[in-house]
Amino acid sequence: MRKRSGPCEATPCLVLRVVDYGDADRIVTLLTAAHGKISALAKGARSSRRRFGAALSSFGFGEAMLEERRGQDLWSLSDLHVTRGFPNLPHELSRFGHAAYACELCLHLCPPHVPEPEVLRLLVTLLDYLDGLPLTDKPSPLGLRIFELRLLSAVGLALQLYDCAACGGPVPAAPLVPIDVRRGGVLCSDCFLGPVPTELGPQGGGLHATLRDTLALLGTLPIDHAALAPLAIEARSQRQARELLQSLIENHLGHGLRAVEFIAKMNTFGPS
Ligand SMILES: [Zn+2]
Repeated sequence: MRKRSGPCEATPCLVLRVVDYGDADRIVTLLTAAHGKISALAKGARSSRRRFGAALSSFGFGEAMLEERRGQDLWSLSDLHVTRGFPNLPHELSRFGHAAYACELCLHLCPPHVPEPEVLRLLVTLLDYLDGLPLTDKPSPLGLRIFELRLLSAVGLALQLYDCAACGGPVPAAPLVPIDVRRGGVLCSDCFLGPVPTELGPQGGGLHATLRDTLALLGTLPIDHAALAPLAIEARSQRQARELLQSLIENHLGHGLRAVEFIAKMNTFGPS
């Protein structure tokens, strides 16, 4: 239970989720620069639209006036001034799905009350990329892979590609190295005995050098059109990267994510 109660303060934030609370209020989950992920009570947000206007909608980036409440986990939100709205996100389903997935990932992977300026920057960068695409263009799924890799690193759950996830020792380059999803990365020959599996499954298996290099490369790239457009990564590696990162994330969370199902359904209705 948190004991401090502070004065009202302004902090940059992004709205991750809004849920109704009672007849008059809403509870907003924000990713803030100063306090990381926090939930705040927006009093009167349901009963009076004037109170917060359209500010309380997903993907809004701006400045929140927040007050910590003595002995309460739920903060108090007195004002939210949206400076960036990402207006193109709702106009095309793929980019909306990608944005919703990224917000859901932050909602579940970021621990509460831990300052996450890097995660906030990363999320705003992804939303900027999605919002800035011409409406005729589909977003690159590789943008999400970069986001996943960098988010996992930022919250201390980096995918281990070169150091053994069990002992920390080096895992030299090889055509095939063992990878264990539950441990979060590759394993050295001291920690993995027996033949390396040739296939990758939900628990891990054998990581081919091509996929290892692809993941390492993606982890270093910025999320923007200039970096994503020239990338030529074969479909098989893209699918394996997606499945491996999905397994890792679900292993950390202990459950799946709604937006993943949304994106999968959307892809069955048209080219991805
Ligand atoms: Zn080891």
